Amino acid sequence: MVRDLIIILGDQLSLEISSLEKIRKNEDKILMMEVSNEIEYANHHKKKLVLIFSAMRHFADELKKNKFDITYVEFDKSKENFTKELEQQCKKFNPKSIKITHPSEYRVLDEVKKWEKILGIPVTILEDSRFFCKIDEFSDWANSRKELKMELFYQKMRKKYNILIDNDGKPIGGKWNYDIKNRKRLPKNYSKIPNPLVCKPDKITKRVISQLGKKYAKHFGDLEPFWFATTKEDAIKSLEDFIKNRLEFFGPYEDAMKENEKFLYHSVLSIYLNVGLLNPRDVIQKVLQNKDLPIESIEGFVRQILGWREYVRGIYWHYMPKYSQTNFLNAKNKLPDFYWTGKTKMNCMKSCIDQTKQEAYAHHIQRLMITGNFALIAGINPKQVCNWYLSVYADAFEWVELPNTHGMVLYADGGILGSKPYAASGNYINKMSDYCKNCEYDVKIKNGKNACPFNYLYWNFFLKNQERLKKNPRLWTAFSNIKNMSEERKNQIENDSKEFMKTI
Ligand SMILES: Cc1cc2nc3c(=O)[nH]c(=O)nc-3n(C[C@H](O)[C@H](O)[C@H](O)COP(=O)(O)OP(=O)(O)OC[C@H]3O[C@@H](n4cnc5c(N)ncnc54)[C@H](O)[C@@H]3O)c2cc1C
Ligand code: SF4
Repeated sequence: MVRDLIIILGDQLSLEISSLEKIRKNEDKILMMEVSNEIEYANHHKKKLVLIFSAMRHFADELKKNKFDITYVEFDKSKENFTKELEQQCKKFNPKSIKITHPSEYRVLDEVKKWEKILGIPVTILEDSRFFCKIDEFSDWANSRKELKMELFYQKMRKKYNILIDNDGKPIGGKWNYDIKNRKRLPKNYSKIPNPLVCKPDKITKRVISQLGKKYAKHFGDLEPFWFATTKEDAIKSLEDFIKNRLEFFGPYEDAMKENEKFLYHSVLSIYLNVGLLNPRDVIQKVLQNKDLPIESIEGFVRQILGWREYVRGIYWHYMPKYSQTNFLNAKNKLPDFYWTGKTKMNCMKSCIDQTKQEAYAHHIQRLMITGNFALIAGINPKQVCNWYLSVYADAFEWVELPNTHGMVLYADGGILGSKPYAASGNYINKMSDYCKNCEYDVKIKNGKNACPFNYLYWNFFLKNQERLKKNPRLWTAFSNIKNMSEERKNQIENDSKEFMKTI
């Protein structure tokens, strides 16, 4: 008889995971399951599915090499969901208890919480110690204040973990935040930027590609070439490659965009962090060793992981399940088909969507200021937008996707996560990228058939949401412009927006 049956989920692929901490190799058993419901509940990018299943299978091999007793169920032999497969396995192994590390998504936690009743076996849910901030710790912090500013949370984490803090308890370099130095446009004569590390698919990955390619050919995105790391060893090499080749300029060009430069100086490490191949503590430690690199790059990178990543997770668990149900701006329009096909005349949108189809990756500013900004100002329904983001990116898990999309991009939470909607016109896109050069629309034209749609949709967004947003002090400039706008101009904006929305 098995004592503990330890369940390891597809984003818990680490020997340091809390459920393995007290494992007794001779008495306990590990169970890993690929189930079809997890594949089919969204139109997941094919590269995302390969990443997760290949990384799971490699991790199972590592466990076997370490002499753990493990059962691994592949998707073509499993029941359709975790609960049904687990019921079957429990009949076989008759465990005394079940252990699992806290699932990262509400949907899965909800399922796990029902196991005890369904199976009649005690279930222990352990804290996920890979994160810097515990779920309850974040809630205590959130309950103790009126506004949940990321910056203050980030400072608290820096102090708690003594990261980039000098001997007097002050931030190294004199400032907590070098955001102001993170907004440079890429210069015309920039040197070639090295791409992220390419990992050749091995036997295990090739088999996953062939299995998924046959059964899930209709899922979004290009299956090949597949180049992601699927083992801890290769993920660490990817981290080292980032530090050596791109970290130096990560800070200054964090907000830049450039057509055909898919990765710029970004790390492309979220895919490995989110499934457990990299531990955020190790990533930060390795980055901090590079003391000779500019502070705006080191601090900028640390802020993303110790600040934003932890903060969005805190928001997710503090507000779920209600968080996903809000629609503060009452946005109701349907997600245009071009989000799936890339068939649009807007060059910025087409480039970001085509890249997403190829790589299951887009960097933060593409997600926020291009595809996200468009969804915001075109009033697309939050559920449909969230479903898209959850499907198309290899790093997309609801705990991190939802607060970013629903909160940061769409302001559907009414300002819990961000203090204002990140709406922007074509002018911003033109300033931070070169997409407009090759676009059929003219970014300099404000109205009419040839005008950049971001220009009139931007003002239409503020006209439509005046009542909901006009008291926000950070939007004072936009609303004072509207106050001085002629009725004729307002009508033009509304008509152009209406006509454009009909075409999509
Ligand atoms: C609409 C939208 C949806 C998003 N969905 C996801 C998602 O599903 N999964 C995901 O991991 N990130 C998501 N993000 C956050 C961010 O865009 C990605 O983490 C980042 O682009 C991943 O690429 P990178 O590893 O090259 O990041 P880098 O730019 O190199 O940043 C370093 C690391 O910091 C972390 N990070 C940076 N920004 C954020 C953020 N806003 N929230 C959480 N972590 C952050 C990531 O772990 C990332 O690997 C989303 C952002 C937006 C605007
Ligand atoms: S002109 Fe407008 S639609 Fe075209 S690339 Fe520029 S911002 Fe995008």
